[in-house]
Amino acid sequence: MLRNPKQWQFLKKTAELGKTPHALLFYGQGGIGKRALALEFIKLLNCEADKLEARPCLTCRACKDIEKNAHPDLTIIEPEEGKEIKIVQVRDLQNNLSLKPYSAPFKAALIDKAHLLNQEAQSAFLKILEEPRGNSLFVLISEYPEMLLPTILSRVERLRFYASPSSEKSKGEKEAIAEIIKLSRENLLTRFQYAKTLADGSADPKGILDIWLSYFRETLLSVINGKPGDYSVIKLKKILKAIQNISFLISTTNVNQRLALEILMLEL
Ligand SMILES: [Zn+2]
Repeated sequence: MLRNPKQWQFLKKTAELGKTPHALLFYGQGGIGKRALALEFIKLLNCEADKLEARPCLTCRACKDIEKNAHPDLTIIEPEEGKEIKIVQVRDLQNNLSLKPYSAPFKAALIDKAHLLNQEAQSAFLKILEEPRGNSLFVLISEYPEMLLPTILSRVERLRFYASPSSEKSKGEKEAIAEIIKLSRENLLTRFQYAKTLADGSADPKGILDIWLSYFRETLLSVINGKPGDYSVIKLKKILKAIQNISFLISTTNVNQRLALEILMLEL
């Protein structure tokens, strides 16, 4: 049983209609099946079974080779030693893509932890994305999509993954989002008072910061997509960075929570 049925249905539909996007971004927290689903989809596109409903069959050569990461038309890129993805890895990908497919209808590339593409590698990858190409598919996987160049983000079809099957926001989440929107329109004094209340209160600041993080991430993606918003891309990236830093400090040190939250209040 797949863990992300909605995302799977969407992908399958694009294949049925012959409208699979050229590049996809799977984003959302780690460990919730993004990479597994990407590989299932690459199998579906390359499976040798005649009928789409029967794909991926998991028994044909293409399905098996993809499972073993031994398929000549699939390139998987991930950070070396878990640190970063370097330009040389992107160049290798470019070379692979310039060859004719060996056997598969689709040449596919999966870039795991795509936010770890370093700046040079991102620029090189952007060039690949810009080149028109036949049947090829790029799947980027990331927990931190805001670390990718906006020019990359605007060229990929984004698919969000959730930790829980329901994508509905809870009441608590809705309240926390309403709060931050209100705060961003208040003066600094009111914002600092809020920081104090949050730090002194019984609510879990880390949980609230996580909700804000996810809200500003969505906002950034929609601004990049051309939807007008109150914030610029640069400003949103600053806010996201501030939330991440503070969240990290709060959970790993005994930093003064109120001071840490005040720094965020300055960025809003
Ligand atoms: Zn198959």
